[in-house]
Amino acid sequence: MKTAQVYQDKIIVKEVEDITLGERKGAIVKVLGCGLCGSDIVKFKHKIVHDGAVLGHEIVAEILEINSDTNFKKGDKIVTSHHVPCGECNYCKHGNVSMCKHFKETNIFPGGFSEKVFVSEEHLKNVAYTVPSNISDEEISFYEPLGCCIRAIKRCNLMKDDTALIVGLGSIGLLMGEGLKALGYRVYGCDLIDERVKLANKMGIQSFDFNLEVDAVFMTSGADKAIETALKAVRPGGKILVFSSTPLNNGYPNNEIYYKELTILGSYSPSPADLKDSYELIKSGKVNVKNLTTVYPLEQIQQAFDDTISNKIFKAYIRI
Ligand SMILES: [Zn+2]
Ligand SMILES: [Zn+2]
Repeated sequence: MKTAQVYQDKIIVKEVEDITLGERKGAIVKVLGCGLCGSDIVKFKHKIVHDGAVLGHEIVAEILEINSDTNFKKGDKIVTSHHVPCGECNYCKHGNVSMCKHFKETNIFPGGFSEKVFVSEEHLKNVAYTVPSNISDEEISFYEPLGCCIRAIKRCNLMKDDTALIVGLGSIGLLMGEGLKALGYRVYGCDLIDERVKLANKMGIQSFDFNLEVDAVFMTSGADKAIETALKAVRPGGKILVFSSTPLNNGYPNNEIYYKELTILGSYSPSPADLKDSYELIKSGKVNVKNLTTVYPLEQIQQAFDDTISNKIFKAYIRI
């Protein structure tokens, strides 16, 4: 089977030995496509992964072989996420499931940018769903990233009709906007790239007037400068949701947090419940995830990485 592997500053498509299920519980799936996540870009750019690593986790796939107590069967088209929490540790009990040790250790194998992937029984039981017949592969590939956004929104515990500003209108910013609108909040957005603002406006995200203030700011931009923007826009007593790493790793100023009684929150990766909400929102058409992706064949995965890094496209979907 073919896999796309990281080697230094390149992604190379390589033939490796086929994987089979053997005696294991779970499924071997044929990957139909996999979304290219911002976290894949970070891992590649900053060389966080070892040579030979297969990135990708936003898979849409067909079951080839299965041994499971679930209702999934051979031939089913499914979508799955890559991490599963234990549900019992102190982090899980407090709702911080993405901090759970088990959550971090679980994964799909070898990674989404591969012709075949092993999906464990635990994944099938907790984070996998069949793809609805009215939804395209590219649309359903937003299942995991939208789940991340839903988690971030829930963590802010907003009130009906509250206002939110999204700083950074890349694919994840637009997705956050879709989530916020679907859950009933008023959404504004800003970005340094005009084209992105225009597209966001078309999707119902209004441009923001910095004389106003919002109840919550969602930081989907990884620029250090975005922190200033957030502090300018958030109302006293408001919330800032951190959803991206920043190069200089600068923090929020102590005195602003103190005098303005701000709440700064992080949100990392979705729980099974957030993923279920995400699945339902896509299935019901309450979020619009059409026309956001640019499709690349596996052989052109390097191009997909390059075009994402240079902001030429919003979101790449690798068809396998
Ligand atoms: Zn992702
Ligand atoms: Zn746990």
